Amino acid sequence: MTVALDTGIKNARNVSRFVFGAGAVESINELLSRRRDKYGGHVILLVDEYFKDNYQSLDKIERHQQDQWIYVSTKYEPTTDAIDSICHQVKKAQGIKACGVVGIGGGSTLDTAKCVSNLLTNHGNASDYQGWDLVSMPGLYKIGVPTLSGTGSEATRTCVMTNKSTGLKLGMNSEYTVFDQLILDPDLTSTAPPNQYFFSGMDCWIHCVEALSGAYRNPVGDAFSRQALGLCREVFGSGEMMSGYNREKLMVASYLGGSAIAMSYVGLVHPFSAGLSVVLGMHHCIANCIVMASMKDFYPEPYREFMDFLKVNDINIPHGVCEDLSDDEFEALYRATIVHEKPLLNALGSRFSEVLNRGRVRQIFEAM
Ligand code: ZN
Repeated sequence: MTVALDTGIKNARNVSRFVFGAGAVESINELLSRRRDKYGGHVILLVDEYFKDNYQSLDKIERHQQDQWIYVSTKYEPTTDAIDSICHQVKKAQGIKACGVVGIGGGSTLDTAKCVSNLLTNHGNASDYQGWDLVSMPGLYKIGVPTLSGTGSEATRTCVMTNKSTGLKLGMNSEYTVFDQLILDPDLTSTAPPNQYFFSGMDCWIHCVEALSGAYRNPVGDAFSRQALGLCREVFGSGEMMSGYNREKLMVASYLGGSAIAMSYVGLVHPFSAGLSVVLGMHHCIANCIVMASMKDFYPEPYREFMDFLKVNDINIPHGVCEDLSDDEFEALYRATIVHEKPLLNALGSRFSEVLNRGRVRQIFEAM
């Protein structure tokens, strides 16, 4: 048996509080009214633009005139420029006196809320805080309300952003990034487009597969991962992934998967997926699925299970995404993949760069 390596994470931090259950979204009114009474000021709500036209799902949330509702575009995943521009918008309209930030949406919107909350109490720009433990002041009180399950953003201590000018895709990894409060209401995922629901859910399953196959391990992280993996299997093996009961299970899996990944590392899928995101602008969750479909040699058992999930849920994933790319683009894909040393080390050991040489990496992308 190989010896597990220490993840180096010494003092894990989880979300302080959560409310769970169908209809739980209504509890936001009381939570926010307590904040307003105690601290005064308004609330900044960052809401996935999807709800502009699907506002009925959120009609239990009381509207206060002084609050700022900002619809967040999810066409692209968060960039440092987009975060700075939202912060500018917030400060310009109301000064920075607010008593809380609420993020309502999928992983991108939740990440945006986490970044904005930190930047309202820390000087400078989003790009100043890309890295580990660079945030020095606790962010503004933040509530996360996921409307898609899988990314685990609701539970993690990071918020991923891409810096377009440096090409760096890296989050504000800090314990101040963790939400103070979550509202986990499975009713909110009922209107998600099935494809997107599947791709997001698979992010959770993939995180856990990668963590449990890796060399860096944490017993608590492993327990979270196993539980989340089991729930994903029940949901995606059932043939009715979006039933009420399964939406509830997937919301739990996402939270546990996020808690797991906060104390372990991903493996091979995420580095390749990051390549597709950085070079071809693909969204994280669909990129993961495209990569998973070409991981037969590295993760044979999970690969078979993934193929079954596609069939059972009647989901098609795009093929030929790297057809017609130039040599320069393949080189960019190679660099954007190989730069993720820790996950690759976790998956393949210290000789990962020999296994994943230029030729092999290109072959893997060509097969996607
Ligand atoms: Zn992921």
